[in-house]
Formats: sequence, structure tokens, C-alpha cells
Amino acid sequence: MTDFAGNQQHIIELIYLVASALFILALKWMNTPATARRGILAGEIGMVLAIGGTLLQHGIVEYKWILVALVIGSGIGVPLGLVQMTAVPQRTALSHAFGAFCVTLVGSAEFYLRAPNVQPFMMSVLCCEVILGGLTVTGSLMAAGKLQEVLPQRPITFKGQNIVNLSMLVIAIVIAVYLVRNPGATHLYPVMVGIALVFGIMLVIPIGGADMPTVISLLNSYAGLSAAAMGFVLNNKLLIIAGALDGSSGFILSVIMSKAMNRSFTNVLFGAFGQVAPTAAGAQETRPVKSASPDEAAGILAAASKVVIVPGYGMAVAQAQHKVRELYDSLTKRGIDVRFAIHPVAGRMPGHMNVLLAEADVPYDRLMEMDDINGDFPQTDVSLIIGANDVTNPAAKTDQSSPIYGMPVLDVERSRTVMVIKRSMNPGFAGIDNPLYYMDQTLMLFGDAKVFVSNIVKELSGGHG
Ligand code: NAP
Repeated sequence: MTDFAGNQQHIIELIYLVASALFILALKWMNTPATARRGILAGEIGMVLAIGGTLLQHGIVEYKWILVALVIGSGIGVPLGLVQMTAVPQRTALSHAFGAFCVTLVGSAEFYLRAPNVQPFMMSVLCCEVILGGLTVTGSLMAAGKLQEVLPQRPITFKGQNIVNLSMLVIAIVIAVYLVRNPGATHLYPVMVGIALVFGIMLVIPIGGADMPTVISLLNSYAGLSAAAMGFVLNNKLLIIAGALDGSSGFILSVIMSKAMNRSFTNVLFGAFGQVAPTAAGAQETRPVKSASPDEAAGILAAASKVVIVPGYGMAVAQAQHKVRELYDSLTKRGIDVRFAIHPVAGRMPGHMNVLLAEADVPYDRLMEMDDINGDFPQTDVSLIIGANDVTNPAAKTDQSSPIYGMPVLDVERSRTVMVIKRSMNPGFAGIDNPLYYMDQTLMLFGDAKVFVSNIVKELSGGHG
């Protein structure tokens, strides 16, 4: 029997090892569109192995409740997996909330099972686990609510907010330190968790607009770190590895996003970005713009030899990627050089445009990163912007009062002609006007991205050029 249990433990360890390797490979493969699908598959197999290995644990007395939990979890998970691509940020936030809720519950169960006999190291890890877990639960729920527009999206700020927030965090840490020294003080434990839960709400209410996805990725990092801490508490190496991978990748992603928007972490967390500048928003109606029809746009494109397409959030909303692919085919057939300029934060999540264009089978080598294509705009005949706005806003380079000042943007205004497909003069995610639209070389193509691109394709196949 002991031999059997020993062998079983070895098998579980082996399964965990394979699962850990698959998680690492998944992250590596997800690095480029060419191997991304393989990466997802590796992650999925890794997760199935991790769950399977855990179910083999001999500590499990009966499977009835586990089965119930699996059914409930799958019942929530399947519809969550089917949401529109544009809703992925809030869907991801919900997943973090569930994960962190689980971590906080497990941590609390472990505390009450073990108290007062908890070693100082274990108690410190447990406190980290539940503080990070607790703030991630409510922070992620707030973030999901804001992105889904169930809660007000605007940042909510008040005087002394940062001091209040920091004081709460300090009190939670002081209680944690006390609990490490006196694990028998069980009455203080719920106070610490309660503060962490309220802190999560306070952390996210002053954040809004374009900073939300960055915050979600930061919460991803917290959820990962709390899961790693749970791994120490449960002595589970797989959880430590998976949590550390999740924590570090979430952190790296937040750094990449902040850099792409030229914002520091402190600025994201304490800057209350996303408030519409009233002057910029109000000024937009009065200035004239030039607009063009699909057949005029088709004529201009057909006469070009170098075209750069700049996709953005609007292409995702309109699900126009397949029509964009048809446009690409139609133009390349005419011998026109067509490339895509991908801004690192175009859309609503990193890689958003790459995923959509890959789905429509646009060749990967035609997708250019911002730094690689920015120098080519002066030699570009037409820049065709499809549902992008903030990522092309030249005010980021010139207007020091602009909330996006300093954010690296695509230098589309340097091309000979700029055509912008969008439905109206409404601003983008950052809520600010775009001076590009009033420039001499710019033509506005008003309409839904899918419909407009489809009309251009029809005009092109109707014999222009
Ligand atoms: P954007 O600035 O939000 O602009 C999108 C534009 O698409 C809007 O101006 C909208 O104008 C247009 N649009 C919406 N639906 C459309 C439709 N059906 N057909 C045609 N046009 C449509 O988008 P972006 O240029 O991609 O910039 C992304 C923003 O998200 C940036 O502010 C970025 O900082 C932020 N962000 C992104 C990430 C990320 O990871 N990707 C992370 C953090 C922040 P109309 O309403 O007039 O049509």
C-alpha cells in the first residue's frame, strides 16, 4: 500500500513536470503568430494534465464535490470562452477574479485548519497569498464591470485618495506582520482579508480609459503571484511554477503596454488617465474635414504603388478583417505593395490586430511593427486607417497638454494621402480629438469598416485602375 502510494506520488510528480514544461513552451510559442496556435494547445494540454494529476492525489477522500465543482466551473467557463474578441479584456478580468477568489478561499481554509500552529514563514506566505488574492478579486471585478460598461468607466477620484489607499495597504501589512508573530489571533484574519478586498476596489476606481487593459494585466500578475504563494502553502511545485509564470508574464506585459503608451506604472495606478479633456472633445465639431466615397477611395488606392493599412479597434468591432484581406488581395493583384502597420496597443489587448489578421490569413510577413514601419511613411502613397484613432494621433508628438503626449504613435501623417475609415468624428478610447483628420492630405471615409471596405473592394473589382 505504501509502495502504491509512493508510486502514485511519483506519477503525479511526473505529470506535474510535463505540465510545467508545457506551460513554459506555451508561453514561448505564443510569442509569434506562426506558432501561437500550438502554444494555446500546449497550454490546454498542460492544464488538463495539471487537473488530472491533482485528481490523482491520494489525499482526496471522495470525488462527489469535486465533480459538482467541475460541472459548475465548466458551465461558467464554456460561455466565457465564446465571448466576442472585443470583450476579451473583461472576460480575462473575470477569470482573474475567479482564480484569485479560489486562492483566497483556499488560503483562508488553510489558515483556519492550521491556526494557531503556523510557522512564521508559512504565515507570511499565507498573508501574501490572501492579501494579493483578495485585492485581485475585487479589483478584477471592478475592472470587468468598467470595461463591460456595467460600472461608470470614468476614473473616480477624490482628495487624499492615494493617502487613503496607501494607509489601507499599510494597515493590512501591519496586521499580516502581527499574525506572523501571533498566528493564534484568528479574529484579526478576517479584518486583513476585508481590507484587501476593499483595497482592490479602491485601487481600480481611479483608473479608467486606455489604462484599464494595463491594469488587467497587472491584476493578472497579482493573481499569478498569489497562486505561487498558494503553491508554497500547499507544497505544490506545479502551482509555484504556473503562478510564477503567470505573475512574471503579466508583469512583463504591463511593462510593455505602459511603454507603448509612454506611461509609468505609478502614472497608470495613480494618474487617473482616461478623463475626457473637455476642450479637445468640444472643439471637434466646428472644424471642417474632407470626406470621400468608396469609389473615390478605390480610385486613389488603385493609383498608388505603396499602401500601408493601419488597423485599429474599429476593425475589430466591425469584424472587418476578412474584407480587409479581400482588399489586400485585390490591391496586391494589381501589383501594389500593401503592408500592415501594427501599433503595440491598437485594439483593446496586446496582439489584438495580429490575431484578427491571422484569422483572415493575411500573410505574417506583411505585418510590420511600429518601429519597423514608421520610417517608411514618407515613401507611402496611401495610409488607409481602418477603425484606428489614438494610435495615429499626431498630438501625442506635438501637444504637451494632450493626455497621450509622449505615447509612441504611427507617423501616418507623413504619407502622401491618408484615408480614415470610421463612422463619425467621435474620439477613440482615450476620449480625445485627432488633429490628423483636419490635415490637408487626409480624407475621411465615413461608415462602418466592414461595409466601407467591402464597397471599396466592389469598386476595385468593377474595373478601376
Ligand atoms: P481607438 O483609439 O479606440 O479608436 C477606434 C476607432 O474605431 C474609434 O475612433 C471609432 O470611431 C472607430 N470605430 C468603432 N467602431 C467602428 C466600426 N464599426 N467601423 C468603423 N470604425 C469604427 O482605437 P485604436 O486606435 O486601436 O487605439 C487603441 C486604444 O486602446 C489606445 O488608446 C490604447 O492606448 C488603448 N489601449 C490598448 C491596449 C491594447 O493592448 N491594445 C492596452 C491599453 C490601452 P467611430 O465611433 O467614429 O466609428
